[in-house]
Amino acid sequence: MRRRVCLLLALALLFPGLAAPPAESEDPSGTGLAVRKVENLPEDFILGMDVSSVLSLEAGGTVFRDAGGREADLFDLLHEAGIGWIRVRIWNHPFSSDGHGFGGGNCDLSHAVEIGRRAAERGMRLMVDFHYSDFWADPGKQAAPRAWQGLTPDEKADALYAFTLESLNALRAGGADVGMVQIGNETSGSFCGEADWQTAVRVLMAAGCRAVRDFDPSVRTAVHFTNPEKAGALLDRVASLADAGLDYDVLAVSWYPYWHGTLENLSAVLSAVRETWKKDVLVAETSYAWTLADSDFYGNTVGEGTSLPLPWPVSPQGQADAVRDLAAAVCEAGGLGLFYWEGAWISAGGSSWAENRAKWEKYGSGWASSYAAEYDPADAGKYYGGCAVDNQAFFAPDGTALPSLQVFRLLRPSF
Ligand code: CA
Repeated sequence: MRRRVCLLLALALLFPGLAAPPAESEDPSGTGLAVRKVENLPEDFILGMDVSSVLSLEAGGTVFRDAGGREADLFDLLHEAGIGWIRVRIWNHPFSSDGHGFGGGNCDLSHAVEIGRRAAERGMRLMVDFHYSDFWADPGKQAAPRAWQGLTPDEKADALYAFTLESLNALRAGGADVGMVQIGNETSGSFCGEADWQTAVRVLMAAGCRAVRDFDPSVRTAVHFTNPEKAGALLDRVASLADAGLDYDVLAVSWYPYWHGTLENLSAVLSAVRETWKKDVLVAETSYAWTLADSDFYGNTVGEGTSLPLPWPVSPQGQADAVRDLAAAVCEAGGLGLFYWEGAWISAGGSSWAENRAKWEKYGSGWASSYAAEYDPADAGKYYGGCAVDNQAFFAPDGTALPSLQVFRLLRPSF
């Protein structure tokens, strides 16, 4: 015993990293970012990012740069920063009847195919986020695609199955490495224009899950809810899926720190789902602000004078800490990992609202163009415009990577 202690002491002196790994890892590129390791993080823990708006930004002239200001491909920067998965949303047909994009990246299947290909070329896997809508689907909106409106639930299930399978086949044919598929986006209330879970929603979700199984049984299927701070409602929903016998693998949740309660609550909810229903769990969306300044003349969700709770400092270090602490909480709950939402959605780059508006309308780089009024008159039709999360990206307004982007590799014990 004593000899073993001596041996360990000698080893510690010779190889200090072996005996006592540093609690913090400072970014060797000299940015000053310090990140505490997440001990016991599995090698395959998912650290992913949603970049669905990137093609619209690039089309409008946005350039991404490394921390030194050199132009670089966004996907190279993400891969080098430790991102292993890319998430992309798919809308069925986000275009007006005269062919103008609705905005929000104009994320149709063709956009997803290109994003999936560029991710795969860097060895990054793809998380496919089907909204089953022609535009944004979230807790307040779950409109069916126009082409499916008027269908019975059974007819709609057939259409959903076919669209899912055809899209996944197209993604794979285009070179994407599809690893996980979400059947719906933030479907806490309704889904694809249906609100009756007993007669319609469960049928539609089952059709989506079946399409993924038929595409490739090794690809994980996920359902995606939000509001984990309302733990009872979320767990009731998960229980109802179990009662319906839905064949899925992963319960994914959104967790935005300024809306969705504490990390302790999140971890407890995820643990409960794992233990009670034996499902894998994942955080499919999160983000945090590094500044309160707006850079595109369209107000931000978290902006100057906000009354929202901000548990970490609003700085690149605070943004990195938010990601690191969330990774630790998800790891503690035995979760698969996390995806950061739209971490590259920066300003369209114009020097005035009018310049940016022209780009939002032409390229779809804002959250909604005026053309979306045709599909969503009550919200997009009134409030269309730019980006409300440009201050939560990992890039400065000129496209230069922030030091906080490095958190994804720095938090890993193996780095
Ligand atoms: Ca903004």
